[in-house]
Parts: sequence; structure tokens; C-alpha cells
Amino acid sequence: MTGHEQTLKNIKSDVLSLLMDNELGFSDFYQYVKILDSCLEKYFDITNSTFLKFESELLLPIRKNVQDHIIQDAISWVMIEPYFFQSAIVPKPVLLKNYQHYDAITHAIALKKEAKKPNGVLLIQSTSKWEAFASSQYLQEFLLLITNLMYKIDQLSNEKTNEQQYRKLFQITDLFHSTMDVDVILENMLMALQQHIPHLQIELILSNDQDRELTLNIKLFDYASERPATIEAFVSGELTFEHATDLKRRILNAPIKGRQAIYGILQISGPEGYVFSGREKEYIRMLADASGNALENAKLYRQSHRLISDLQLINETSHRLNLKMDLNEMFVFLKDQLKKSFQPDQICFMFKDGNNFSVKESTELFHTSDADPYINYINQQFSFSKDPIFIADFNRQMNEPVTYNSIMAAPILIEEKIQGYCMVLHKDPYYFPFDSFKLMQSLIHHSSLAMANTMLQNKLQEMVDRDHLTKLYARSYLDKYVEQVLTDTPTGMFLLIDIDNFKRVNDTYGHQIGDEVLIQIANKLKEMVADRGICARWGGEELAVCMANIDAKKARKIAQQFVETMPVITNPQVTISVGLITWDVNEQQIFKSIFSQADDALYVAKNSGKNRFVVYGEHENIAVSH
Ligand code: GH3
Ligand code: MG
Ligand code: MG
Repeated sequence: MTGHEQTLKNIKSDVLSLLMDNELGFSDFYQYVKILDSCLEKYFDITNSTFLKFESELLLPIRKNVQDHIIQDAISWVMIEPYFFQSAIVPKPVLLKNYQHYDAITHAIALKKEAKKPNGVLLIQSTSKWEAFASSQYLQEFLLLITNLMYKIDQLSNEKTNEQQYRKLFQITDLFHSTMDVDVILENMLMALQQHIPHLQIELILSNDQDRELTLNIKLFDYASERPATIEAFVSGELTFEHATDLKRRILNAPIKGRQAIYGILQISGPEGYVFSGREKEYIRMLADASGNALENAKLYRQSHRLISDLQLINETSHRLNLKMDLNEMFVFLKDQLKKSFQPDQICFMFKDGNNFSVKESTELFHTSDADPYINYINQQFSFSKDPIFIADFNRQMNEPVTYNSIMAAPILIEEKIQGYCMVLHKDPYYFPFDSFKLMQSLIHHSSLAMANTMLQNKLQEMVDRDHLTKLYARSYLDKYVEQVLTDTPTGMFLLIDIDNFKRVNDTYGHQIGDEVLIQIANKLKEMVADRGICARWGGEELAVCMANIDAKKARKIAQQFVETMPVITNPQVTISVGLITWDVNEQQIFKSIFSQADDALYVAKNSGKNRFVVYGEHENIAVSH
């Protein structure tokens, strides 16, 4: 056996024991390179060697740490590959002349299996021992051996690192599955990254629909100022890379995505010459994905909780509003609910009386002119659109500064028309989260239904309570009213009116004209009584008036006014007869029904010449109109 053959055997035996060695579990590739170095020194006295590892089409010198991938020292594989077309071992390629630290290097050895990506290139400074060995027949076998060895080591170290990475990732996803706390998820993701890539800078950019206080150092995603590569990652959901020459950095953007949406970007950056290894990219991508899914779960969990409490609120509100409340009671109740749910600075309810909005239950501001900018703006918006309004920064919309910047307004739609609206204000811009806006819409929508019901009921009641022709109260309403007034008020008056010779009007002008005369009298009565009492249609062409808190003297005056006024305002002209009864609990008790007493008085008025009023019990009081 020649010395060279023995050397090769010894190297093989070393390699074998290396592969059998328990220590073979470095995740740091440099540890293996050190073994290769010591082997070169032991057998060939080679003390100057550098291993260039193939990574992303580049050859990167393995020095202390595999993570020192600085591109300045990297050599493009494509540039150096042609040198090795004839042989795997060649004298130092001219290309390396530019690299001072390779001055003493004499040879380059390509470690590459056919049809595979290269493993790397070994640079050595030749020695006489090496020269002798290299010229022997055992060189090829040696080259094959170290090529296979380095591939094997690469594979083993990859597996080792992968295993560690997956284990870490598994621990993290396990934790993610056990928590619904967004902060815990993000904190752990950052911690895992910091452990794994301590040499790189990590930044978390989250989309701003996170309705929570941010306790971690997190940037909010801003379309207007984000770098294009960051936006691309956010929109496409794919990793993007950028050589940011302005920052002198290499940036990797990993989208934090779940199944439904992308929640932010994990931005990792290194120095300008940094090359992200395939493994790093994969790890960052997987961690970002796991975090995205965990965030989504936590978000959905929170959302479902909120949905349940929102539904409870809407349910409770609908239930309460349907409990026979009148409109004002509804506004008061809703105001309370809105206050509890959104903590606004100001609340206002506007409702249409006729064609214009008027302020209903509202906070103080809305009873002053300080509310004008808000009311005018919202009125204007609702004049052309039925959409609810959400303003995050009102200052931006106005030319002059305003006090309240956050505004939410929801229309009260009844039969598809805006019958009113509710508006809440807060001084701080961006105060109301979008979810509150949706909840407010829901609340007002459900309340609108209850309000529509109440309004419809009021209308129906009105139809029952009012006479169709004269729009005066109907007899049934009058009965209840009189009963109430008699028990509640110590003094009052009741009078019955009968139009004189009305049959003649009908006979002369027709029934329709007769109706018009009835309406003329009814309208005048309403106007004269106003809110002092009520007017009712007693039946046929007989009308009744009841007023509370009125003494006998005033009552006579009113009766007289009626008698005098009606012939003036009717066309064709008619006169009326009136029977009046007044009461005063201090003077006398009413024993007999006031209705029949008034009727008695009216009978006297008719029989004593008509066109006059008669007070029950005083048959002499007669007013004559001219
Ligand atoms: P007077 O009361 O002065 O004794 O004579 P009169 O002609 O008014 O007699 P009375 O009050 O008894 O007659 C009521 C008439 O009023 C009978 C009816 O034709 C008419 N009338 C009652 N209700 C209406 C109505 O809703 N519209 C019209 N056009 N006429 C009515
Ligand atoms: Mg009559
Ligand atoms: Mg009559």
C-alpha cells in the first residue's frame, strides 16, 4: 500500500468516525467546516482554507457563523462555474484576484454532484504534501469522498435545524391554540423570531382594524406611507423582498395571514449585503402563517363574544321599545342605551314634525347654536342619502376647527323615508370603532320598527278618536275626557251647540254645502278653544266643547263669543244655539249628568228664539247676534 493510499484510508476512517460520532448534531454548519479544516491540516499540512457554501445561487464564505451571510464576500456561482467545466479542482480562478483575503489561495475545488446544485467550493493554499497527493491516482477518490461528505453533512445539519425549527414552531402553535389573547400571540411570535434570528431587525406592522390598545411596539399599517414591497406583500399575501438602497438594508416582508384576511406584515431586515437563507425564509413564513391563523381565531372569538352581547343589547332594546312606549319615552330609553354602549360626549335625536327636523331627547349641546355645524352637516347629508354616516375626523371635512371630531349618525327610516335620525359625537378623532357604527345602525334600525308601530298605533287611535268629517273629537273620546276633567279639576264648563235651521241650509244649498258649513264652524271652534279644552262632534249638526279650570263668568263670555262669531264666519250664514253648564265643586256638587243639563239649556235656547246661549238654571241669559 502506498503512502497516498494509506492517507486516503485514514481520511476515510476519520470521516467514518465523524459520521458515527454522537456529536454530529451541530446546527451550525461552521462546526463541520472546522472538522474539514482540521482534516486538511492533519493529512496535507494545509492551514489556509476557506469553504464557500452554496446558498441562493451565491457562494458564501463560512467563517464563524453560518448567519454571517454578507454579500460583499459572496461570489456568484454562475460566474465561477465555467472554471470547473473541465475539472473539479482548478488553480485559483482569476475571479478571486479581487479578494485580498484569498491572495494566498492556490486552488479551488468544486464540491458538486452531477445534476445537483453545488454544495460549495473549497479554497486551499497548496502544500508540498497536497501537491504530491493531488498528483496521485487517489485524488479523484478523495474529491468524491469530501464532496459526498459535505453533501451528507449539509443534509444532516439541515435536518437537525429543521427539526429544531419545527419543534419550536410546534411549541408556538400549541401555545397559539391555547390562547385567545392577541398580545400573547404577537409577543410569542416576536420572541421566537428574536431567538432564531437575533442578528436581524424585526418589525411588526398591523392593519389598523385592531380594535384594541396596542401594548407592544407595533406599527400601524398605513397605505399612504408604506413601502411598495410591503404593500405588495399585504395585498398579495406572498413574501416580498426589497433591496432598500435608501435605508441601506435588505428587507423581507412576510404577510401575517389567516384564512379570511391579512392582518399585518412581519418585516425583517438585515444589512445591505444580507442574503436570507432558504431556511430563514421558510421559518419566517411559517411563523407568520401560524400567527396569522392564531390572530384570526382570537379575533373571531372576540367578535363572536361581541356579537352575542350586541345581539343581547338589540334584543333587550327591541323588547323594551315594544312595551307600549310613546315616542319620547323611546328616545329617552335609546339615549340611555347609546350612552352605555358607546360612551359618546353628546347624543341627539332628531325627528320630523311636518317637513322639518326638530330636536327631541338630546344632550345640552343640541339645544344651543353650537350644535349647528353638526346638525346642518348631517341634515344636508340626509337630504340626498339614506346611508348612515361615519366620520372619524370631522375637522378634515370642515374649513373651521370643530369641537367634536368623531361622528356617527343613523337615520330612522319609516316606510323607507327618513323620519328622523340619531347622532352621537365625541371630541377625539377616530374615537368610535367601526363595530360600534354597525351596532348603532342595528339599534336604530330595530328601534325604527318599534317607532313605526307606535306611530301607526297613534294614527289608528286618532282615527278612532276623531270624527271623520269635522276632525273634531268623537263622542267616545269626549265622554272619557269629560269624566276625567270632572274628577281632576274643581271648575269647568261644558256646552252643546246646535246649528239653527240647518235643515233649511241643506234643503236650499244641498247636503254638501251643509257639510262645509259644519266644517267652518268646527274649525272656528277649534281655533277659539285652542289648548284650553276640547271640541267634539256630539252627533249630526250638534257640537260640544269642554274646558277645565274655567269659572262661570269666563264660560259665559266664551259661549257668547261662539254665538256672535259663527254667523260671521259661516257661508251661507248660520246662527247657533248653545246650552251651557258650568261647575265649581266649592259651590255645588254635580248630581245630574252635565250632558243632559246642557241639553236642557240648549232646549231652552231653541225655544226662546235661537241664536243665543242659555246657562243651565238661568233661563234669562240670552245673547243675540246681529
Ligand atoms: P233647529 O235646530 O233650529 O230646530 O232646526 P234644524 O233644521 O237644524 O233642525 P234639527 O236640528 O232637528 O235638524 C238637524 C238637521 O241637520 C237634520 C239633518 O238634515 C241635518 N244634518 C244633521 N247632520 C248633518 C250632516 O252631517 N251634514 C249635513 N249637511 N246635514 C246634517
Ligand atoms: Mg239638531
Ligand atoms: Mg239644528
